[in-house]
Amino acid sequence: MHPNDPSLRSFVEGASDSGFPIQNLPYGVFSTASDSRPRVGVAIGDYVLDLAVIEECGLMPRMAAQTVFRQSSLNALMASGGYSWSIVRKHISQLLRHDNPKLRDDAVLRKRALVPMSSARMHLPVAVSGYTDFYSSREHATNVGTMFRGKDAALNENWLWIPIGYNGRASTVVVSGTPVRRPKGQIKGPDFPAPIHAPSRRLDIELEMGAVVGVNTALGSTLTVEQAQGAIFGFTLLNDWSARDIQQWEYVPLGPFQGKAFATSIGAWVVTAEALEPFRVEGPRQEPAPLDYLKQAGAHNFDISLEVELIPGGGAPTIISRSNFRGMYWSTAQQIAHHASSGCAMRVGDLIGSGTISGPDKGSYGSLLELSWGGKEPIRLADGSTRTFLEDGDRVTIRGFCQGDGYRIGLGEVTGEITPAA
Ligand code: CA
Repeated sequence: MHPNDPSLRSFVEGASDSGFPIQNLPYGVFSTASDSRPRVGVAIGDYVLDLAVIEECGLMPRMAAQTVFRQSSLNALMASGGYSWSIVRKHISQLLRHDNPKLRDDAVLRKRALVPMSSARMHLPVAVSGYTDFYSSREHATNVGTMFRGKDAALNENWLWIPIGYNGRASTVVVSGTPVRRPKGQIKGPDFPAPIHAPSRRLDIELEMGAVVGVNTALGSTLTVEQAQGAIFGFTLLNDWSARDIQQWEYVPLGPFQGKAFATSIGAWVVTAEALEPFRVEGPRQEPAPLDYLKQAGAHNFDISLEVELIPGGGAPTIISRSNFRGMYWSTAQQIAHHASSGCAMRVGDLIGSGTISGPDKGSYGSLLELSWGGKEPIRLADGSTRTFLEDGDRVTIRGFCQGDGYRIGLGEVTGEITPAA
């Protein structure tokens, strides 16, 4: 049976009702108090299946000359190639099935290999080779453009032709749970005679998905949209923290720099592109028609429900936004095809930010910049306080899932708390 089959069940109790049922099998990197070596695991219900242990017991097909599981990142697994991604996932699925006694009835092995998630310390799942961030939600680009340039010039002329992006910093990609320090930078308010160097006063979030590239391409080679789709190992939730005041002063003419270089948080779990196959949907109609190298046939977007929660220090949670990945104008495959179109080499471990995922109405905007409309319309939180941008002590958590036929593919969460500037 295909690992995505909705009728599959696992012997792991509670898995079917969780975001990590047997149809999901997302990969992460974890360690425990009793074994501090980071290694690759798969989430199933409230447990992590330790793939290093499974491999060492001879229960894994050998995918490469060296182990791909007793590793501190998913890169070796990804580098083993798309064919082995499928075989490994199928193998794990079989091992966790309710009707397979091999692991189910081996109490000693089960105790070693199934680690309660509560006792797993999660690490950054990918050794990030490069981080490229796009700007592919028409709603987000229109909102930001309207605020910065007025309604009539909201979308730049190039936006409908190019998946706009910039090269970000791989060095500051952090795993969910890592505190985010308020950055300092050059800020120049409209009535300042000169810029000051100070902590950001307009610290923001960006609700995004991150795609993880799982193949190397040669310098000088290119990818079709279909090849680019096949190059995606999986997806994870991404919060592209942004300092709007630093960004606004620095972004002309080369785009974002220090305003986005201080932290980018990603989820601890990478959901495979294969697990998301049943949730592929067509994106919005593209008019004008893209140039030939960006033309795509069929469904290249994904129906992933997303929400953003804000908890003020010690306060009550408020869901400040609900959005969906399906509405993105440019698909991830088009972004990667464009990225490679100059002959730019892609690397195993490249992280591709989707761009802020804003929907058509106010409750679906993916940044505080839009939710508070440039800081002019504070949003109200459950505890009665208001926000335009983030305050110290605020915790922001993004969650996401795909609704299947009787099961849910959870993306897990990406969370971070703001700590005061140094
Ligand atoms: Ca971004």
